[in-house]
Amino acid sequence: MVKSVVQDPNPILHKKTPPVTKFNSDEFKKLIKDMKDTLAKEDGLGLAAPQIGESLNVFVIPDDIAPVAKSRAILSPIIKPEKRTVFINPEIRFYSKSTEVLEEGCLSVKGIYRETPRSFKVKLKARDERGHKFSVSAEGLLARIFQHETDHLNGILFIERL
Ligand SMILES: [Zn+2]
Repeated sequence: MVKSVVQDPNPILHKKTPPVTKFNSDEFKKLIKDMKDTLAKEDGLGLAAPQIGESLNVFVIPDDIAPVAKSRAILSPIIKPEKRTVFINPEIRFYSKSTEVLEEGCLSVKGIYRETPRSFKVKLKARDERGHKFSVSAEGLLARIFQHETDHLNGILFIERL
């Protein structure tokens, strides 16, 4: 179900989220579905649970980033396809020293786009919907999305990174 996206300065956006512990509950499956539906409707590049009012450590990305990036006129040098779209209890384990500055926006901060520096490469550890651990490396736009979304789960908005 498509939910409305929580807007700054709602306090839920500024709170650190607790980890997911119940992976197989119907409630959690519904949350993931609602997040995916909402992300698709908003044509966004990523969505964290607090953005639909649920303070929980999970974010989702679109099935395919490239068309969304194109529709938003985002040019990033590398877009690596990533099969995974659900990241639970994510943790960034490596940030490259090399950074990239790109205009960034947020579905919870409507109408504001700012040049935001981010590490060009990251390594992220997370759990999938069944609770299995995995890790993934990303560069460019995908690395930026991972940083933006894990920030959300720590209660940080991109405008606080400027
Ligand atoms: Zn955001």
